[in-house]
Amino acid sequence: MDEKIFVTRSSMPTYEEYIEAIKPLWESCRLTNMGQYHKELEEQLKVYLDVPEISLMVNGHMALEMIIQAFDFPEGSEVITTPFTFVSTTHAIVRNRLKPVFCDVKSSDGTIDEAKIEDLITEKTVAILPVHVYGNVCNIEEIQRIADKYGLKVIYDTAHAFGVKYKGKGIGSYGDASVFSFHATKVFNTIEGGAAAFSDKTLYDKLYNLKNFGIRGEEHVVSIGANAKMNELQAIMGLCNLRHIEQAIAAREERSRYYKEHLQNIKGIRLFDENRFTDKNYAYFPILIEEDYPISRDDLYDLLKSHNIYARKYFYPITADMECYKNQCEANDLTVARKVSGQVLTIPFYEKLEKEQMDRILQFIIEAVKNMNR
Ligand SMILES: *Cc1c(COP(=O)(O)O)cnc(C)c1O
Repeated sequence: MDEKIFVTRSSMPTYEEYIEAIKPLWESCRLTNMGQYHKELEEQLKVYLDVPEISLMVNGHMALEMIIQAFDFPEGSEVITTPFTFVSTTHAIVRNRLKPVFCDVKSSDGTIDEAKIEDLITEKTVAILPVHVYGNVCNIEEIQRIADKYGLKVIYDTAHAFGVKYKGKGIGSYGDASVFSFHATKVFNTIEGGAAAFSDKTLYDKLYNLKNFGIRGEEHVVSIGANAKMNELQAIMGLCNLRHIEQAIAAREERSRYYKEHLQNIKGIRLFDENRFTDKNYAYFPILIEEDYPISRDDLYDLLKSHNIYARKYFYPITADMECYKNQCEANDLTVARKVSGQVLTIPFYEKLEKEQMDRILQFIIEAVKNMNR
């Protein structure tokens, strides 16, 4: 049996680089609570991501929960969002006692269908929470136009879009706020970690209080907060990985080009459209299995798995159809989201994926029918 190939593998510095970098912690014994490395990483990320302000968090999900909380929306308010995403996006809205209103997506790139947003706006709507899914950039201008017209906030889930630029500007500089994930499986990782980016300076203090129990001094607890601080070992992992990020993205680009060359003319395989104003980060490699492909998406998934190739059905089902949300949301028309979600397969894709491994994967996808008949 051939070796197992998983959908992703974490990017890591060398063992020696990380060990060398964490050594000073055995001198300082300062492991967390917004230490030196936390501060350094915030400063470096602000520059690299080209965002006005940034607040590091223990993970991307808490960054999303806390930035939503920081806007102080009235309980029960509605947030227009996409169901074609990782569950975290929807959970973060609901855990803030707000109501997710699912908007359909576009088949071309999987992002929220901006043409369907206005119909979903009610007097309770307070925000739009789109996702740059797979790093595909939403229609930022149109979303902002709608938000301005109705006085809504725009919070982007940029968990997939680390390092992406749109029209030459950092992706996290659009809208009122953006949330990045630095989870081990993402383009850039701090093991677990995340950050909220925003332009309103007052949000920095609000987030600080939310992620640190509202503690502002030994005898001063100024507000009610939780604990979502990034620790120094995470921050150092980030500083190490950030040194190699350009190289990591270049390696991904090369692999993406190779897959694309071999897959773009295969009957029944569709790739998402690319936005020409975007500098991409090549976070994932999703393919869509259309009707004229010889076997279904699920059969292709099983076929690959039987050969030790672990692709993933990201994102299936759509969050609106998960047990915890099913029948609890209004029956918005999510036809396209369901269709795309039923067709998509993210195939193994990471910085150090080898050409031989890609060839093995491509062979099964390209010769799926022959293999099915064996
Ligand atoms: C990974 C991810 C998150 C959550 O990030 P964590 O760092 O894992 O908490 C949120 N939204 C999307 C779209 C993601 O892919």
